Formats: sequence, C-alpha cells, structure tokens
Amino acid sequence: MADVLLSIKGLKTNFYTYTGVVKALDGIDLDIYKGETIGLVGETGCGKSVTALSIIRLIQWPPGKIDEGSITFDGKDLLKLPLRDMQKIRGNNISMIFQEPMNAFNPVYTIGDQIAEVIMLHQKKKKKEAWQDAIEMLKFTGIPAPERVAKSYPHELSGGMLQRSMIAMALSCKPKLLIADEPTTALDVTIEAQILDLMKGLKTTTGASILLITHDLGIIAEMCDRVGVMYAGNIVELADVGSIYKKPSHPYTVGLICAIPTLDTKHCNRLATIPGNVPNLIYPPPGCRFHPRCNKAMDRCSKEKPGWYKVGEGHYVSCFLYEGGDKK
Ligand code: SF4
Repeated sequence: MADVLLSIKGLKTNFYTYTGVVKALDGIDLDIYKGETIGLVGETGCGKSVTALSIIRLIQWPPGKIDEGSITFDGKDLLKLPLRDMQKIRGNNISMIFQEPMNAFNPVYTIGDQIAEVIMLHQKKKKKEAWQDAIEMLKFTGIPAPERVAKSYPHELSGGMLQRSMIAMALSCKPKLLIADEPTTALDVTIEAQILDLMKGLKTTTGASILLITHDLGIIAEMCDRVGVMYAGNIVELADVGSIYKKPSHPYTVGLICAIPTLDTKHCNRLATIPGNVPNLIYPPPGCRFHPRCNKAMDRCSKEKPGWYKVGEGHYVSCFLYEGGDKK
C-alpha cells in the first residue's frame, strides 16, 4: 500500500443552530493514500461535503465548528495550523472543485484573472507569467480557444466550460490532493463523461490523489480505487471498489446497491428502497445511527455504537453483524 497523504482521525464537526446542535460528523477516521482516487458516497445530508470542507477548514463559524479530531497532512495537523499557514495550503497543496461552478467564480472578474490570481498568490509569479500559466492550464483541460476563454467572464461560458475552468484553477498550483465535490452534478451526461475522463487523465499525469464526493455509485465504479460509504455522519463501510460491489456488507451499503437497477441477482433479487429517511442530526438515533432503518437490527444496536470489523483485505465494516472479524 502506498504512503498515507492525509489522515483523518476522530473528526467531529457540529453546527450550532437556534434549534439545536447538528452533529454532522460523528468521529470519522479516513486515510487517503498518495496517488489514489478515493470516493465518499451516501445520501444527501450524510456528511460527505462537511468532510471535504472540514479538510480545507472552510467550515464557517458560526454556526459550524470542528470540535474534535485531527487531520494530518504532510506531517502537520491542519486543525492546529494558524489560519495564515492554512491559506498557504488551501488552493496550493490541497485544491477543491465545487459542484456549482457558476457560484464558485467571481462574476466581475475574467476566468483568466481568477486563475492567474491563484498562481500569483501561491507561486509568487508576476501577472504576465501567471496569465500565461492560466492559459496553459485551460489548454491542459482541453478547452478550445483557451486565450478567448481566459478573457471571458463566467456568465459567458457554458456549465461544462466553467467546470473545466474550475478544474484548471484547482490544478494550477499542482496540488497533492484534489477534492472534487459532486463535480458533475450540474452537467449533462455527455459533459459529465468528458469531465470524468479529464479527471482520470489528470491523476495519471500529475500523480495527485483525488477525494471524490458523489451520491452516484456509477461514478464511483468508474473513477475510484477505494470507497467509503457514509451514513448520518459516519463512514460505515470502507473497501476497494471491487469489494463494495461484489461483497457489500453493511446493511446500508446493501440497500444502496440494491437500489440500482441491475441484472445481477446475487445480493438483491428485486429493486429495493431503504425504508425511512436520513435522521435529523440534532437528535441522531442512539447506538448505531442506522438502526431505525435497518432490517437486521438487534437489541444492542439502539444502545451501543458498533466498532470497525474486518471482512476482507482492506475491507472494513462498522456493524455488529461482523463482530467476529478482526478489529480495525
Ligand atoms: Fe443494522 Fe445493527 Fe449493523 Fe447497525 S449495527 S447496521 S443496526 S445490524
């Protein structure tokens, strides 16, 4: 296994709202290895984006706060860094692409100016050189007529062009980790395929690790080496992509896989739904947070939080059903 690039331990992020404390992340652990693409998948509200924003410390206070845990990157705990040092890492060593490119760009500056600004800030280059680098990055993402696009304002470009421009900006400082939060949600399927191809190519060319956040298991299968399945602020299953599809183990993962139409009847012989809704995280269910929706729940599931158990090589599940297996 490759070296660990980023290690999250016991991360708890809460949002202090007028109606109560939303316990958005319930102590998650995750290692991201150098050069891998790891996916986080789960329903809306399970904590995928909060995990990403916690990594780059963009959880805004109030109401959000990272209350516990550590995020180690290049030997430093990002949560203990002064803001000034964190700003040097953000956009430089760790970059993020957001799901709504139109909202991510400033509407009153050209695309080229915005990419060049990142290069000037982090690479300490002069404006002219940074502008040339910005055009090179746009060319790298396969944008036709990059000089023209660099002089365009965000509203003059299509969703696909904007998403490519955001990828160009995110990669302009050659980050070691690229976080992509639902990068294709706002795009049609043809452009989606092009953006995914581009990201695959980038990994090969730059060797960067990618944390890919999506609710789409098809994208996970196409893009990722490993995947973490999230539910209500916890990672409940972690494995390489092949194992998740061949041997889904956590009842929630089984439910997700069975909710996809397929001809394979090994794990599910009819198209299924997961009963109930994602819980209100102001009042999360005690014990295993999935127990009110779990068809295998036992008495203890509503009282104790399950640990991590090994069910295969590099395949871990947080569920009492596997308690006999090795602990993580
Ligand atoms: Fe279901 Fe219990 Fe496993 Fe939770 S710990 S997924 S409730 S069987």
